[in-house]
Amino acid sequence: MNATPMIDAQRLSLMLNELRLPTIKHIWADFAAQADKEGWPASRFLAALAEHELAERDRRRIERHLAEAHLPAGKTLDCFAFDAVPMISKAQVMALCAGDGWLEQGANLILFGPPGGGKTHLAAAIGLALVERGWRVLFTRTSDLVQRLQVARRELALESAMAKLDKYHLLVLDDFAYISRDQAETSVLFELISARYERRSLLITANQPFGEWNRVFPDPAMTLAAVDRLVHHATIFEMNVESYRRRTAQARRTGAGRPAAYTTPKVLETIRDNQDENDELASDNLNRH
Ligand code: ADP
Ligand code: MG
Repeated sequence: MNATPMIDAQRLSLMLNELRLPTIKHIWADFAAQADKEGWPASRFLAALAEHELAERDRRRIERHLAEAHLPAGKTLDCFAFDAVPMISKAQVMALCAGDGWLEQGANLILFGPPGGGKTHLAAAIGLALVERGWRVLFTRTSDLVQRLQVARRELALESAMAKLDKYHLLVLDDFAYISRDQAETSVLFELISARYERRSLLITANQPFGEWNRVFPDPAMTLAAVDRLVHHATIFEMNVESYRRRTAQARRTGAGRPAAYTTPKVLETIRDNQDENDELASDNLNRH
C-alpha cells in the first residue's frame, strides 16, 4: 500500500494553490505513484516536482511575452533567406538574437533599405528569437506608436506611457521614416528615443536613410539630436536589395546591390548642412504647435 491515501489530497491541493504551484498540483499524484513504485528517494521526487514547476513557469512566461509582443505571424529566421541579403552576416544576426550584450546596454539595431527587402521580416524574426530567449519585446508600426503617445500626451500621461514601454527590453519601431511631419507632431518620438537612450534598446526599420529623416521630426535640430542618440551605440544593416517578392517572381538572381552609402557619419553633417535650408520650414512647424 502506498503512502498517498495517508495524506489529505484535497488539503494538499489547496496548499499548492495557496503556494501558487499549479504544475505540482497537477502532477504530484502521478509522480508520487511512480516514485513509490520505483522506490525513488524523497529528494529525487521533490527535485522532479520543482523542476517541472519551473519549466512550466518559463513556458507560460514566454507564451505571455509572445502574446504581448504583437509580432507579425510567420516571420521567422528559419524562413528568412540570408542569401538574398548577402551584405548581412547570418552569424552576426544569430549573435544579436542571443540578446546579451546589446540589450543589456540599451544599444540599438537599425535596418535600412528599399521596400520589400526583408526589413520587417528580419526585425520580426529577431524579435521572436529574443522572446524565445526570455527577453521582452514589443513590435509596433511607428505611426501607431506615435498616435498612442500623442493621445497619452494630450491626457498628460506621456511619461507614464513611456514608463510602461520600459518593461520591453526591445521596442521594434517598424517603418520609422514613413512618418511625415504633417501627419502629426512627432516630437513624442524624440522623447521616446531620449528616454530609452543607453537604457533600453530600439530596433528601427526605415526605407529612408538618415539624411531624409528631417521629414520625421519637427525640426532639423531634433533630427540631429535623435540620430546622434540612436547611432551612438548601434548596429546598422543596410539591406540594399531589390524587393524579395519581385526577385523571387523573376528568375532567381542575387547580388550585392548598391554599395552601402546610406549611413556614413557624413550623414550627420548632411543633416547639419541642411539645417539652414530647413530653418524656415522648422520655425513654421514650431509655430503650428
Ligand atoms: P520590407 O519591410 O523591407 O519592406 P518585408 O520584410 O515586408 O520587406 O518583405 C516583403 C516580403 O518578402 C515579406 O513577405 C517577407 O516575408 C518576404 N521576404 C523579404 N526578404 C526575405 C528573405 N530574405 N527571405 C524570405 N522572405 C523574405
Ligand atoms: Mg516593412
